[in-house]
Amino acid sequence: MKILVGNWKMNTTPEEGISLLERISNLLTNEVVGDVRVVVAPPSLHLIPSVEKLWENPEIAVAAQNCHHKDSGAFTGEISPEMLLNSEVDAVILGHSERREYFKETDDLVALKVKAALKHHLIPIVCVGEKLEQRKSGTFLNDTWTQLKIALSDLSPEGLADVVVAYEPVWAIGTGEVASPDQAQEMHAFLRGKLKETFGTGELPILYGGSCKPSNADDIFAQLDVDGGLIGGASLNADDFLLLVEKLRKS
Ligand code: PEP
Repeated sequence: MKILVGNWKMNTTPEEGISLLERISNLLTNEVVGDVRVVVAPPSLHLIPSVEKLWENPEIAVAAQNCHHKDSGAFTGEISPEMLLNSEVDAVILGHSERREYFKETDDLVALKVKAALKHHLIPIVCVGEKLEQRKSGTFLNDTWTQLKIALSDLSPEGLADVVVAYEPVWAIGTGEVASPDQAQEMHAFLRGKLKETFGTGELPILYGGSCKPSNADDIFAQLDVDGGLIGGASLNADDFLLLVEKLRKS
């Protein structure tokens, strides 16, 4: 399964967001999208208008960038998976490295969120990836697998079947420094092998994320174990996002 996710992060006012979505929606016709599953993850304030806007274009799904693991309660400022489900949101990005770094999310918390998302029929897009020191010290493969193993612990086979994994080396996110196609393939194949060994299935889609843009996407999408991309910066430009969809479709 080929999947392209645009993570807008904390960018665009509501007006700018809907206008960007309008441009993306106009460009991404059924023919352009083909067998690629396209997802946009706007800021939470834009989720409901985005879902409404996309009633006209079933080719594009909507994801939140985070959620809490409880259904409701005294958690000021948070959004629950139940609220997302009731707003017709399809998916949720969990464990993004910015959440881990700036909001101190741990592997165990990510695991709770993954379970909560699945309970509410949201597709969890689970982000893992090593920091620069871990790459330099040579522990990056096992460190990234540990993050993923914890995030997916105790899931049923049915739950696992709905999970999307995103490998995002932290040193490549928003830095302009992209992993080489070989580095991406090495990690994706490693994670797939470990998933098979541990959970009995390696069939989960594994996306690459980290400074992926039209100028470097061909070689990354061509890798055997890369099933698509989680795109930050380049997803804020409708023309670039279109090019990425086309490149993934043709890969
Ligand atoms: C991301 O936000 O997940 C990401 C990969 O960002 P960028 O493409 O800007 O590196």
